[in-house]
Amino acid sequence: MPVEGGVHRTEPGMGEAAGLPGTHVTIVGLGAVGAIAAEQLTMGGVGCLRLVDRDLVERRNLERPSLYEMANIGAPKATAAEARLRPVNPEVRVEARVKDLHAGTVSELVANTDIVVDGTDNLATRYVLNEACIQQRIPFLYGAASDALGMVSPLSPPRTPCFRCLLPPPSDVGRVEPCATGDARVAPRVGQLLASHALHFLEGGTLHGGLYLVRAEVSEVERLEVSPRAGCLACQQRAQEFLVRPEGPTVVQLCGGNAVSLDPGWRRTIRLADLAARLAPFGRVRLTPYLVSLEVPPYDLSVFPDGRAIVRGARSPQAAQALYRRYVGR
Ligand SMILES: [Zn+2]
Repeated sequence: MPVEGGVHRTEPGMGEAAGLPGTHVTIVGLGAVGAIAAEQLTMGGVGCLRLVDRDLVERRNLERPSLYEMANIGAPKATAAEARLRPVNPEVRVEARVKDLHAGTVSELVANTDIVVDGTDNLATRYVLNEACIQQRIPFLYGAASDALGMVSPLSPPRTPCFRCLLPPPSDVGRVEPCATGDARVAPRVGQLLASHALHFLEGGTLHGGLYLVRAEVSEVERLEVSPRAGCLACQQRAQEFLVRPEGPTVVQLCGGNAVSLDPGWRRTIRLADLAARLAPFGRVRLTPYLVSLEVPPYDLSVFPDGRAIVRGARSPQAAQALYRRYVGR
């Protein structure tokens, strides 16, 4: 049935095809929380679902409720999720983006989006998203799950606080955070809550803010009132502290600390087959449509067509950069 704004109402998660044509959601991060939200939004029939994730599927991702299976290990999470979700609702256009979201890539990754859903596992990405969403006036649905507690907050300043109002940046933003294990009891509920807020908004509803707490041992969701922080640098002063892109490559240690993502910041494309041939003398090489990987123990280097790489086994950004320079170039 038609509602205000010309979009069609659908019950969230009821599997009705193409309930919200013309709508566009971006999910950043496809761990336990983001994957559930992606599944629910696909079933809810959003028009376009953009899936952004910088990482590859690992064995530990299979232990929790997830979109992935054994055959996906070593594949990018975004492309694995896309392949899994396409048949769930063929009316939904699913777009995989195997990218690291940082100050240099965020505007392209959230472009043309009606609402951004947070499936990330780290604060640094959330502060970048917060500023980009304020700048582009896109609502940002914050979501997190750790241990037995999950949190969701629909952020749409100036009506609501922004992420910085909710959680002012600690002095060590960007340090390696422990992997959010996303308690199996809490992560699906957080993903579902994010999806239902997104669908509510896309159906023409208003986001009223508030901080929703999901506790493992309690079935009800608790809602706390939260107010914008007076003088907030991000939503009130419009400062862009995290959107400033440093010179040179963007190198970040991924959660858990034994892998590094390195984005050289190029504007060129690598021909994967050529790179695979060039790397063959140095170790075991695997070529897929999405990446080339090279095993040179104790490292495992995966390179994507845009030049970004993940170096597993690298315990510091410097070690990853040295390896990248040696095998890929500058
Ligand atoms: Zn704020």
